[in-house]
Amino acid sequence: MTRYRWPDGKQSAVVLSWHVDAESGHEYRDPQSAATQLGDMEERRYGPRVAVPRILRLLDRRGIPASFCVPGYTVRHHTAVVKSIQAAGHELACHGDVHEDIHPLDEEAERDLLQRQLGIFEEHLGIRPRGYSSPFWSMNLRTPRLLKEEGFIYDNSLMGDDTPYFLETRHGELVEIPVQWLLDDAPFYRHVYGASNAMADPDRVVGQWTQEFRGMHRENGCFVLTMHPWISGRTSRLDGLERLLDVIQEEPGVWFTTAMQVAEWAISTQQNKEVKVRGLPD
Ligand SMILES: [Zn+2]
Repeated sequence: MTRYRWPDGKQSAVVLSWHVDAESGHEYRDPQSAATQLGDMEERRYGPRVAVPRILRLLDRRGIPASFCVPGYTVRHHTAVVKSIQAAGHELACHGDVHEDIHPLDEEAERDLLQRQLGIFEEHLGIRPRGYSSPFWSMNLRTPRLLKEEGFIYDNSLMGDDTPYFLETRHGELVEIPVQWLLDDAPFYRHVYGASNAMADPDRVVGQWTQEFRGMHRENGCFVLTMHPWISGRTSRLDGLERLLDVIQEEPGVWFTTAMQVAEWAISTQQNKEVKVRGLPD
């Protein structure tokens, strides 16, 4: 049984999603340290400085499109790097301004924040993204409606399915392209002193991602791999990603695409409509 139809009879979709956070997450969580602690900032600047060019070369070599979710902070502070992503033809999507957790915000502050992000893209890049991934994948019940109000067509932050589904709002439906912590590099690779997740060997991570890909491919899923340049941009980890891509590219019937194209496909085919998300306001 085909669980979800993909274009041209493809069996599954694969989206490489890069969250170009740069220093924004640290700036948000600990602005005092960000103002004085050079080490933490340089660790994250490795992303735009070294990793993004390396990732762009990899994608170019393999002919794979990607979706880059970029905080306003990164657009403002690393404009040339973001322009190089844009020039390479990849998708750019919103990802907060200074990587804010939107959950504690009231409606007005949340709307202001969305508009600020769009203003930054407009000012520096001359574009208005229509895709969104929430920092920390944290969302409010009203967020889908606010995203629709600002012209977004998809969100890429929730974990409720293997394939796209829809979030109903009074302004129409927002496509949800689901993510998963299992398919995020940070829980495996990120170094945090004292945390239980000691840095993982790329072979282990790729092994796990390969198993998940095989299952998702069998089940006609949308395999969204979320990575951070400052984390996954190290050579050994990108080599691991290439081993995963070798496996995926050998498999017939995989649609390598962007989150935006997945969203457009979901809208045009109206599949998975039986999923109703509870708790959303009218
Ligand atoms: Zn992020």
